[in-house]
Amino acid sequence: MQMNRREFMGMLAAASAAGMAIDTPSALAGVKPEQLYDFKPFGNASVLHMTDCHAQLLPIYFREPNVNLGFFDAFGKAPHLVGEALLKEFNIRPGSAQAHAFTYLNFEEAARRYGKVGGFAHLATLVKMLKANRPGALLLDGGDTWQGSATSLWTNAQDMVEASKLLGVDVMTMHWECTFGSQRILEVVEKDFKGHIDMVAQNIKTTDFGDPVFPSHVMKNINGAKVAIIGQAFPYSPIANPRYFVSDWSYGIQEESMQEVVDQVRADGAQAVVLLSHNGMDVDLKMASRVTGIDFIMGGHTHDGVPNAIAVRNPGGVTHVTNAGSNSKFLGVLDMDVRGGKVQDFRYRLLPVFADVLPADPAMQTLIDNIRAPYLDKLAQPLATTEGLLYRRGNFNGTWDQLIVDGLMQVRGADIAFSPGFRWGTTLLPGQTLTREHLMDQTAITYPYTTLSDMKGSFIKTVLEDVADNLFNPDPYYQQGGDMVRVGGMTYTCNPTAEMGSRISEMRLNGKLIEADKTYKVAGWAPVSEETRNSGEPPIWEVMETYLADRKVISSKTPYTPKLLGVKTNPGFSA
Ligand SMILES: [Zn+2]
Repeated sequence: MQMNRREFMGMLAAASAAGMAIDTPSALAGVKPEQLYDFKPFGNASVLHMTDCHAQLLPIYFREPNVNLGFFDAFGKAPHLVGEALLKEFNIRPGSAQAHAFTYLNFEEAARRYGKVGGFAHLATLVKMLKANRPGALLLDGGDTWQGSATSLWTNAQDMVEASKLLGVDVMTMHWECTFGSQRILEVVEKDFKGHIDMVAQNIKTTDFGDPVFPSHVMKNINGAKVAIIGQAFPYSPIANPRYFVSDWSYGIQEESMQEVVDQVRADGAQAVVLLSHNGMDVDLKMASRVTGIDFIMGGHTHDGVPNAIAVRNPGGVTHVTNAGSNSKFLGVLDMDVRGGKVQDFRYRLLPVFADVLPADPAMQTLIDNIRAPYLDKLAQPLATTEGLLYRRGNFNGTWDQLIVDGLMQVRGADIAFSPGFRWGTTLLPGQTLTREHLMDQTAITYPYTTLSDMKGSFIKTVLEDVADNLFNPDPYYQQGGDMVRVGGMTYTCNPTAEMGSRISEMRLNGKLIEADKTYKVAGWAPVSEETRNSGEPPIWEVMETYLADRKVISSKTPYTPKLLGVKTNPGFSA
């Protein structure tokens, strides 16, 4: 399918005439969804960017967070803006299709009006349209592509490998890919990706001799412009995920070696330098202020849908930092004017992928249908009906995680439950049937074991303090990008700007203070330690299916949020 912009807009109009939901009633006025895609190319070298699709091949709902706190230097700045504060910062009209894509505001009504987002078949149509107007444009994938769905887990990520190739990804880096094991990654790179997709990561080395495992970068010629794409994998893979999957690889931010790679590609004649990063946006912003010579950091991991590129000054000039959201809900479009050996000007947009507006690409739809065919009955198995909105994103909790900690406590017989602060996982609207596929969207990982442990009160505090520090350490280089561990049963108070070790207080169970020396039964899942691998404990999806089988209807949930100190005026907080 080759088409120009006029033909593409004509196709959208045809979709409209066929009765697809692209009408915007005056109550939700603003730019019509299809108009988002009607803009002219700019310059002579373009790069498209997707990240953190978390293996979502089909259109889904995804609610953005209402709590995404930033403090100190990050206070009130992207990506730590939610709701109205985000709309104001980026000049987006309330009620518009864009407002729905970038915020949680009025989520249920807007989701019903604008429909599902993402889906590789719809994304493929958008990619083809943009590429048709931008000869030589590259498609970059920031990783977290292989994990997050039942089919990716059941096919050992082969579904996503095939879909990425058909989508036309040119360059990729990684994070959750590592949870399929280093051997599997190398197998894909050598067999499937060869001649199609370049895997780049300047910060993955062998633990024995410190040799690079992947090329640090690729140099591409786009219409005569030399463009270097450097890869940065998630620096904390062996800490945030089980080390045993990648025991022979070392990671880390490796800022010095990043500077060396940038200097090298510049010496080799790169006229534009793009860093494809899985650092997380706060880390990217800090890196942009310290490493010189990078024109653009196209980032992921923290799942921040940031409408514009953020300019960061450094001793060498300016680096622009972007972050392209998650779940194939967005596609970043960077058009550069590269002349006289450097980037003269650029345009950047983060386009929402509205599945009702962008027709499915037939070839991609066929691939997806074929991938799913053997599993359809299993995937469609109904488990319950939800009366309320089920979502995950937010610094402290979401209704989906509330359901999970409730299930863990009940089925495992625990006083307290912990659920990791993952940022992936799709959203269900009130009244939707919760199927096995939806449950797997929240739980599909290669280390799904549940745990039941006796924990001293002092240890519970240590766990909460550690995770809070990963999230709120004032130095982004110490942040690992997840959200706060979700808790069930207990309550606590959190002061995010306090020193490490004193952010958490007032821990209570059934109203009584948790005692440091007393022992409590705590359930959890997704343990990173190797000994839990052979413990024989049931996986989280089995525990949740047991829990849901007794209920059938899930009543509306209010997710437990700790008492927070010093956040009332924070633009990253909306109650
Ligand atoms: Zn990630």
